[in-house]
Parts: sequence; C-alpha cells; structure tokens
Amino acid sequence: MIVAVTGGAGFIGSHLSEALLAAGADVHVIDNLSSGYRANVPAGAVLHETDIRSPEARTVIACIRPEVIYHLAAQADVQRSIDNPVEDASVNVEGTLNMLEASRQAGARKFVFASTSAVYGNVAKEVVSERAKAEPMSFYGLSKRTAEQYIRIYSQLHGLDYTILRYGNVYGPRQTPKGEGGVVAVFLDRLRQAIPPTVHGDGEQTRDFVYVKDIVAANIAAFARGARETLNVGTGRATSVNDLLRLLELCRGAPIARRHAPARAGDIRHSRLDPRRARRVLRWDSAYDAAAGIAETYASTLPSSL
Ligand code: NAD
Repeated sequence: MIVAVTGGAGFIGSHLSEALLAAGADVHVIDNLSSGYRANVPAGAVLHETDIRSPEARTVIACIRPEVIYHLAAQADVQRSIDNPVEDASVNVEGTLNMLEASRQAGARKFVFASTSAVYGNVAKEVVSERAKAEPMSFYGLSKRTAEQYIRIYSQLHGLDYTILRYGNVYGPRQTPKGEGGVVAVFLDRLRQAIPPTVHGDGEQTRDFVYVKDIVAANIAAFARGARETLNVGTGRATSVNDLLRLLELCRGAPIARRHAPARAGDIRHSRLDPRRARRVLRWDSAYDAAAGIAETYASTLPSSL
C-alpha cells in the first residue's frame, strides 16, 4: 500500500511515518521543513520537499497515487495564528484544500486529518465530547475547524472517505518546545538548560495529555475504520501541570525547582476529551498513562545525568 504523510518531517508525522513503514507501507512524506527536520524523516520513507499549497505537491500526489493521505502538515502554533492569521489560514485552510484537490484528482480512497481539541474553544464542560459545539477561540482553532468543513463537503460532493481525528495535548520524543500544547517539551528543554520551568497560576489546571504513540495508533486504525467520522483522540484523563512536574521529578530522581508566574488570561481551568466514540469506532484505546508516556519521553530526551 502507498500512503502520503504531509508533515512527516514534524513531531507527530515522523512517528506516524515510522509506524506505517513498520506496517509495510510505501511512505511518501510531503513537507517543506518549515518546522520539521529532514533528520526526522525515517529511513525508508521518501521525502518530497515542497509546500502543501503548491502545484508541485499536487503533482507529487498525482505521481505516487496514494491509497490514503494522512494530512498532518500545518501551522500548529496557537500564538503564531494570533500574530499572523493570514499565514495560518493560508497553510491550514488553503493547504488542506490543495491536498483535498490532489486526493480527488489522484483517486485516493481516504483522507485522514490531524485536527485538534482547539476547535472546541472554551467549553463549559470538563469532559468534551464530539457533540460539543465547536466555537474556536483562536485563529488556529478556526482554521482547523474550517479545514474540517472542507473535508466533509469534499466527501459529500466527491465521495472521498475521511476520518477527522481531534487530538488532545500530544507529547513525546522529538517534540520541539513550540507549537501546540508543548508544555512537556518546554519543561524538558528548561531542564536540559538547567533553567527552572515556569508554572503559570497554581499549576492545578488540567489537560488531556496524550502520548504520541497513542495518536499514531489511532491514525493507523483510521486506515481501515472510522469512515466519515470526527473523533476525539485523548486519554479521557485529566493531568495537571503539577502532576507533570511530579512525574518528571520521579524520572530525574531529584526535585525540580520551579518559577511561578500569574495564570494566563483566558486559560481554560480543566479540559479533557471524551474518547469513547474513538474507542468504539476505531477499536482503539490509549495504551500509555501519563507516567508511562512521560518516562519514555524523558528517557529518550535527556541524558540520564540530568
Ligand atoms: P510539527 O510542527 O512538528 O509538524 C508539522 C509539520 O508540517 C512540520 O514538519 C512542518 O515542516 C510541516 N509543514 C508546515 N507547513 C507546511 C507547508 N506549508 N507545507 C509543507 N509542510 C508544512 O507539529 P506537530 O505537533 O507534529 O503537529 C502535527 C499535526 O497535529 C498538526 O496538524 C497539528 O495541528 C496537529 N495537532 C498537534 C497537537 C500537538 O499537541 N502537538 C495537538 C493537536 C493537533
């Protein structure tokens, strides 16, 4: 089977490419290396260094004729979307549209999209199901939500199958301390530099932190399941910033000094995803709790002396 992975030089896309190769797929990565790295692309995958908005990217897809397109390439930084909404919409909306056109023209069977819990915005409920109204609070959430709508209408008009996966806060090896929800990567980066990590507010705010290998497993399951579905991919568990630091202290075997800063304005206090639909439809479940995921991330990121 031939698959295309846009954003395959990035954090999540590179893990997905590895898993697809291990499953025996011919993997073609489309990435302009704007936030990803050539070194992330696993050996055995073909890197096509081009922009998802370009005619060249469409030509690549026309030539390789993938059965499934995993569309992960994105402008994935919330703050950047607020600073430069035009660029954000260009990459996330136009880029997705260009990849949908390419999929249709190449006769691809399926489009699997990396969406985000940011499409929900500030939901009053602590546990967010797919039925919650999507009211994004950032241009990033809005551009992802808009891309989702393009995918649905493409499917209705052209019969292209899809699965939209709305990820929680993903963490794991190779994540850089920028982009969406990268607090684990930020903390590890501070530890590497021997700078105390900063905790905003009391650190008891919680999120649904999901390990990258669980995200990959959901994507692999979506190869054959989840037709025309929009699914939350999270653990369904709440992990606080203080919990993360406690787990990092366990890995380190020593206390971690921290700085305190005021709570961020507009920060949601508690949020976690309801993953029950993904469990049922994809026959998938998260296999890593925060302790296991943080331990693996720590071991692969920091030398044992730190
Ligand atoms: P990343 O920045 O590591 O990966 C994105 C990749 O896309 C990079 O390799 C980058 O070079 C590439 N890219 C960006 N713009 C491009 C363009 N115009 N043309 C071609 N390639 C381009 O980010 P990530 O954390 O791996 O995120 C992957 C996907 O998952 C994104 O769609 C993101 O929105 C989504 N997501 C991530 C998280 C998270 O917590 N990391 C949570 C929810 C959703």
